[in-house]
This record gives sequence, structure tokens and C-alpha cells, in this order.
Amino acid sequence: MKTDVLVVGSGIAGASAAIRASEESDVVVVTEATRPDETNTGWAQGGVARRAPDEDADAFVDDVIEAGAGEGDEDAVETLVREGSRVVDDFLVEELGVEFDENGDGFDLAREGGHSNRRILHHGDATGRAVQVALLRRLAESDARVLEGHTALELVGDEGVDGALVVGDGDAFVVEAGATVLATGGIGDVYGRTTNPPGATGDGVAMAALAGAEVEDTEYVQFHPTAHAERGFLLSEALRGEGAVLVDGDGRRFMDAYHEDGELAPRDIVATAVHEVNRDGQAYLDLSPVIDDGFADEFPTAYENLTDEETDSGLVPVAPSEHFLCGGVVVDENGRSSIDRLYAAGETARTGVHGANRLASTSLLEGLTWGLRAGEHAAENAAEPRSVDREPDAFNGDMPEGFVDTKFDRLQKVMWEKAGPVRDEDGLREARVELQRLRGEVKSYARGRLSPELHSLRNAVVVGLLIVEAALENEETVGCHRRVA
Ligand SMILES: Cc1cc2nc3c(=O)[nH]c(=O)nc-3n(C[C@H](O)[C@H](O)[C@H](O)COP(=O)(O)OP(=O)(O)OC[C@H]3O[C@@H](n4cnc5c(N)ncnc54)[C@H](O)[C@@H]3O)c2cc1C
Repeated sequence: MKTDVLVVGSGIAGASAAIRASEESDVVVVTEATRPDETNTGWAQGGVARRAPDEDADAFVDDVIEAGAGEGDEDAVETLVREGSRVVDDFLVEELGVEFDENGDGFDLAREGGHSNRRILHHGDATGRAVQVALLRRLAESDARVLEGHTALELVGDEGVDGALVVGDGDAFVVEAGATVLATGGIGDVYGRTTNPPGATGDGVAMAALAGAEVEDTEYVQFHPTAHAERGFLLSEALRGEGAVLVDGDGRRFMDAYHEDGELAPRDIVATAVHEVNRDGQAYLDLSPVIDDGFADEFPTAYENLTDEETDSGLVPVAPSEHFLCGGVVVDENGRSSIDRLYAAGETARTGVHGANRLASTSLLEGLTWGLRAGEHAAENAAEPRSVDREPDAFNGDMPEGFVDTKFDRLQKVMWEKAGPVRDEDGLREARVELQRLRGEVKSYARGRLSPELHSLRNAVVVGLLIVEAALENEETVGCHRRVA
């Protein structure tokens, strides 16, 4: 199959890139997802930040830079705030018709931790679903050919990237492309304990790294402080914003000992506190201050996920969980990576926006802004697709039973224990040895086989190593990277 632009992924970054690119080029979208709830985008809750009507853009810029511990790239942040705010209105609201909640004065703007103003558009507490459904509807109306339930296994091309090897519907084939955009989302499965939907194995980051692209800032992994300790789903920050408090097993509040803002301290501080309490006991989010008659309407996602016992007692066991990778494939203002004809956008990319930590509700904005930019640039500059001399290998020999699951368990255990919310040099060195061993074991099986599960495992191990290497190199505690020794 040949195309001008190949887009891998159909979350906010991939779908935006494909919609924009298809306005002037032939586009193929390869995506594992078959439903809106199979992307991180579909699971986003709080909303999309954009410059409030009454505010100076500089205030929003300052908030993003401050959240990123001063490590962000100012030009990228300016683009995020100025252009991003415009495309939220022009593309999401006008073109796609996403219906954000309104009050009598226009949009009902929410405020979240780290934001100095009310500037977050939302659709109840299920904003991502509304955005994802609208994107997929528009994508289906476009001229892009969308291959759902298909997996990109690896990039192809000798000098630069000329497309990808893809499997799906019992078939394996190469998509030859003049430009390739990777938008494969998050890395939750590298840790196992995660807020991400299953299948988030950082494929794009790993495939790009294996093809020789520059990858940076991978030590900056954001852990959300309040995921359900047993069932993993996210209990949004907005609950704490509305008055929910964190307590230990004896019902004592503990956040005041960590930060003057208590429960509304920055995410990494709350995550560390919950992690420490959980070492010897169990932290709970006490929802009793917010459980009232309006709770089910205001927080329908939380309400649906909680048991009757939890809503009656108000006490929900919580633990930090992997939530977002701030770093990734290094890209410029148009989403171009360091190697020819390869782009990245969304959580796969490192645009420089987040620095060492991400401000709440800015990742949908980033995926949208860079998705559209990458789609436009790729369409305008796509080379003539080159022929790739690569017959997909047909070898799918047996693997030991439980091979993939066992290796994933090993990976996730070592990543959580040694490269989780709190890290030290000895632990990271041990993790590196274990991951190098794992990589060797997996590589020999992945070579020549066309199994998406095996390639996901290989990719997750590669991403794990990128995180550990970067975390070892960066000896400072900064942003969401916490080094204790
Ligand atoms: C529970 C939760 C709540 C969140 N809340 C918010 C919020 O309120 N505001 C905010 O801004 N951000 C939020 N985030 C973060 C945000 O949702 C994500 O960072 C963002 O949606 C990522 O978009 P993306 O397009 O990069 O990836 P995704 O939306 O994850 O899309 C990735 C796509 O790539 C496909 N894919 C992956 N690998 C392959 C492969 N090898 N071959 C083919 N296809 C592949 C997937 O099927 C999917 O279609 C939240 C995240 C979670 C998990």
C-alpha cells in the first residue's frame, strides 16, 4: 500500500493530523483502536485548557512554565497558548462541533491545580470522550483511509523513514509513505499500575528510538496521586478542588505536613505523599465533603466507578499511578523528528511544552496543536513514497506459554519498584541490568515474528530502558522526577 502521509494512531494527535493532512494529500491512518474508549484521549476527564477570554496570554504561559519547573521551551509554550487557544475555538468548537459545558455567561470554565485562572473547557467529567467521538466522526467524513484494529510493528526505510510494517485482519503488509506521523499515545503498560487504557506501551517512542530518532526527557513521568488503589481508575483532581481530602488508615489528614496548599499541592508532591503513606498503610480519598445530591451529576464518571460501599462511607483507597510521559520523540514546531520524513505528535512527542512536569489539562491542547501542525507540514512536504524492499517475514513459530505475560510482569515490577514515583541510584542501576536482560530475551523472539503483543512488549521494554537511563543521568530532583539518592 502506498500513501503520501501515514498516520499511526487515532487519538487527538493522530486524528487531528490525519484530518488536516487529508485536506490536500492522500492519507492512511493505521490505528489499533476500534472504539473511542480505546485511546487516552477517550479517557480524559477534566478538560482542555485554553486562554480565558478576559486574560493576558502571558498568565497562561507563566503557569505552564512554572508547572514544568522552568524546564519548558518558551517558544513551544507560546505556540501552545496562543495558537492552541485559537484552534480549540476554530477546530474543536466550530469545525467539529464539540459541545463544551456552558453557563449563562458562555463556556463554564473550570480551574485546576497550577492554573492561576478559570480557563478549562469541559464536558462534564468526560471531556475526552466528547472530543474523541467528534474527531472520529470528522475523520470518517474525510478522504483518509482508516485501518482500524491494525498495528504498526516497526518503521521501515534505510535513510530516513519510508513508512511502516503493519499487521491486521490476518494480513501483514508495508505501508510505503512519503511522510509518517507517530501519534501512539501513552506508556501506562510499562508500569502496569496506570490510569491509561490497556495497550499504552509507548510504541511510537520505541519505534522512533529504534529507528535512530532523538528521544529526550523520558525521566519525567507524571504519576497521578489519586488512582483507585485496587481498580486503577482515576479520581479526578477536581474532587479535591471541590473539598475531598486525603486521610491515612486512622482517618488523619496528612497533606498539610507536605505542603501549605494541602490537598491542592502540585501533583508530584501529592503523589509522593500518598506513595509514602502507602508504604506502611493505606491512603484514602475521603469524598464525604463532596458527596451530596449533585455528586452523580457533577462527577458521573467517578460515580459510575465507585461501589455503593464507597459512596456510603465516602472512603476510597488511592495510590499513585503512571499517568503521562512528559518527554518522548524530540520534535520541532512542526512536529518533525530528528530523522527525515518522520513526525511525532501528542504524548509520543517531546515538544518542549511540559519541561519537567505537565500542567493539568494541557495535553489535549498539545496533541491538538501539534497534531494539526504535523498533519499540515507532512502533507505539504511529503516526498514521493519510496518503494520499500521488505517482504514481511512469515515466521510465527511457537513461543513458550505465557511468555509475553511473564515478561510484562517482570518489567512492570522492576519499573514500579525502581523507577516509580521515588528513585535512587542503586535502584535505577539494578533496574537497568534487569531491563537489559529482558530486552535481550524479548529481542530474539520479536525478530521475524509478526505478533503485536510481542512487539508491544519489546516496545515497553525499550521505553522502560529510556526512562531508566534518563533517570540515572539526571541526579537532581526536578518536576516529576524525584531522586532521593
Ligand atoms: C484517565 C485520564 C485522564 C486524563 N485527563 C486529561 C484531561 O482532563 N486533560 C488533558 O489535557 N489530558 C488528560 N489526560 C492526558 C491525555 O488524555 C493524553 O495525554 C492524550 O489524550 C494523548 O493523546 P494522543 O493522541 O497522543 O494519544 P491517544 O489518545 O492515546 O491515542 C493513541 C492512538 O494510537 C494507537 N496506537 C498505539 N500504538 C499503536 C500501534 N503500534 N499501531 C497502531 N496504532 C497504535 C491507539 O490505538 C490510539 O488510537 C488524561 C489521561 C488519562 C489516562
